[in-house]
Amino acid sequence: MTNRAYNFNAGPAALPLEVLQQAQQEFIDYAGTGMSIMEMSHRSSVFEGVNDGAQALLRELFGIPSQYKVLFLQGGASTQFAMIPMNLLTPGKSAAFVHTGSWAEKAYKEAKLIGETAIAATSEADKFNRIPALSDIRLPDNAAYLHITSNETIEGTQFAAYPDTGDVTLIGDMSSDILSRPVDVGKFGMIYAGAQKNLGPSGVTIVIVREDLVESSPKSLPTMLRYDTHVKNNSLYNTPPSFSVYLVGLMLQWIKDKGGVAAMEQFNRDKTKLIYDAIDQSGGYYRGFADTASRSLMNITFRLGSEALEKQFVKESEQHGFVGLKGHRSVGGLRASTYNAVPFESCKALAEFMGDFAKRNG
Ligand SMILES: *Cc1c(COP(=O)(O)O)cnc(C)c1O
Repeated sequence: MTNRAYNFNAGPAALPLEVLQQAQQEFIDYAGTGMSIMEMSHRSSVFEGVNDGAQALLRELFGIPSQYKVLFLQGGASTQFAMIPMNLLTPGKSAAFVHTGSWAEKAYKEAKLIGETAIAATSEADKFNRIPALSDIRLPDNAAYLHITSNETIEGTQFAAYPDTGDVTLIGDMSSDILSRPVDVGKFGMIYAGAQKNLGPSGVTIVIVREDLVESSPKSLPTMLRYDTHVKNNSLYNTPPSFSVYLVGLMLQWIKDKGGVAAMEQFNRDKTKLIYDAIDQSGGYYRGFADTASRSLMNITFRLGSEALEKQFVKESEQHGFVGLKGHRSVGGLRASTYNAVPFESCKALAEFMGDFAKRNG
């Protein structure tokens, strides 16, 4: 038996054991080629099959309409923070943001380097413990687009529903919740996500974008930073992160085998309920950070009575085989990341550990 940790890492994060085992089996000799994926040309028909196959599965599982392009890029979601305004923020227009927390803030700051920006709504006064009400979103008249962070990985908040922006393009950073639940992709002009939380390993960034938005990028932009370059070349303009794309393909097949994205949502609800119940039924021993209505299915943030107890919790959890429960340094406390690949058993074990810990240190 392989000894697998109860892995609650925030990212890179757990991958399904089945996916790792398949990758292991195919590692040295992929599909009878006598080579690993990492050793073959990205222009070979074998790799083209991997690239196209991952794209097709993503389209199928996420219900991506035909007028959208799917790109596999590098540089992480953080590069998209800059590429989006470089490509889509035209002079005289403003990039609007729903300011929900740490990642929204980073995206906003990067856009500010490029052009005019606006905060359309913020929950900063509440330390980002909630997603602002959709009715509080105020778009500037000259909005080029509205950017939202569908799941704030650090604060542990998640949009329950998405805003209607009419003619204004809606852009979603779904790095930490892509494919965790069904999404009406047609509401968005663009969705992007670093793969290393919900969709595979680090090294590849998924971009889903409506084709009319990326037909022509500003002429002055460097080739690699233009969406039209990657659209025209089917994400193969330069050497892609081939092994990462391959693993994303395996992960997508795993999601499909589990019943698809709706089944993933139910699975994620069932497993996070165990941990939220452990918080809510602790009589105040554990305190959830996020407002109940904004709770994330992907990152569960909570606090104990003192920092000393929180330290003790992390230490003891590690002795019991749990990994990654320390909260992000910027907000403190504790965080359990429960992405698609995190097994039900890990969440059950954590809920039980939380109960035991409270009894022992009550
Ligand atoms: C992790 C994360 C990012 C940054 O992703 P990189 O791939 O490391 O650049 C951006 N947005 C959100 C919501 C994240 O969780």
